Amino acid sequence: MTAPQQLIATAAPAARVNLLGLTRVQLEAFFSDLGEKRFRAQQVMKWIHHRGVRDFADMTDLSQSLRETLRDIAEITPPVIAEQQDSVDGTRKWAIAVEGGSLVEAVLIPEGDRATLCVSSQVGCSLDCTFCSTGKQGFQRDLTAAEIIGQVWLAINSYDGWQSGKGRVVTNVVMMGMGEPLLNFDNVVAAMNLMCDDLAYGLSKRKVTLSTSGVVPNLDRLADWADVSLAVSLHAPNDALRDQIVPINRKYPIARLLQSARAYIDAQPDKKRVVTIEYTLLAGVNDSVAQAEELAALLKDYPCKINLIPFNDFPDSGYQRPSGNAVSRFWQVLIDAGFVVTVRTTRGDDIDAACGQLVGEVVDRTRRSARHRAGRGSQSLLQSD
Ligand code: SF4
Repeated sequence: MTAPQQLIATAAPAARVNLLGLTRVQLEAFFSDLGEKRFRAQQVMKWIHHRGVRDFADMTDLSQSLRETLRDIAEITPPVIAEQQDSVDGTRKWAIAVEGGSLVEAVLIPEGDRATLCVSSQVGCSLDCTFCSTGKQGFQRDLTAAEIIGQVWLAINSYDGWQSGKGRVVTNVVMMGMGEPLLNFDNVVAAMNLMCDDLAYGLSKRKVTLSTSGVVPNLDRLADWADVSLAVSLHAPNDALRDQIVPINRKYPIARLLQSARAYIDAQPDKKRVVTIEYTLLAGVNDSVAQAEELAALLKDYPCKINLIPFNDFPDSGYQRPSGNAVSRFWQVLIDAGFVVTVRTTRGDDIDAACGQLVGEVVDRTRRSARHRAGRGSQSLLQSD
């Protein structure tokens, strides 16, 4: 083979731009670079996020030549559903394959006229909270903005929700799936921007919630980039215990975290927000009456509501779910102290309910079948084994 032929043979095709994850500003810049009017961005956003259209040929309000150009240089590619589980209570959970073959989870929880989608931000997680199934899987990589907003797109698509009006299948989004959102700052901010944009999913900023375990430097700068609801995964009433079960606390202790969260809501224009304090109740670890009293003292005069989450057990977790009585006693102490307190009801009991559990199960199953197929030269869905 001559040198020029070699070059032709080895040159990689130029990567297409995935328009799914571009914000309005980014898409306007994209069309501006093509010499097109900025309103093309608005047209294309509506096709993608309101109607679920992926094929440029179907975008009938674009000129034929622009459709052909887009076909050559761009794509609209959501991640792929690897497995779907439906609970008898209406909860639907997906293991979603992202580029490279890794898996993340998304869960849609319908409740009356609301449906809350729990979205992942990373493949795995580096923070290693001791009670978390995802933390036990380690960290692989950040999701792209397209892979994050793609979970919303897939959820609506899986219900054929494009016909029922934009995004009604999903009324709320919580960034509480796999990963720590503030460790994937830029992509999470871009995806939340799309969730709230009227040309995409048009959710109210109060209905999009970012939940953090306490990456304080990025929480300190979040107000400059996103105006959404905030949840803090506290899980302990003091630093000694939180150091053990949420290791990032050793770097950013509770007082610093609560101060940063308060500064975030104080920076919001409406001045009416509160921080949601997430507290996973672990039997015999953080669920005593004394610890409830300590939590009440810690949060006295703090603008918050408290969400108690009885632990969802998973294999080899090392923890147990508290009894109903223990949950009630803990709740009562906080109520008596004047807090607004909710207890997360268990949903999807008949499917793998704990965050990260479905992915763990699919990974195990895929590895088993990969080993089974190894002799026949088949490839695993997963890249690493
Ligand atoms: S609880 Fe959240 S931050 Fe902690 S390891 Fe799990 S996914 Fe990561």
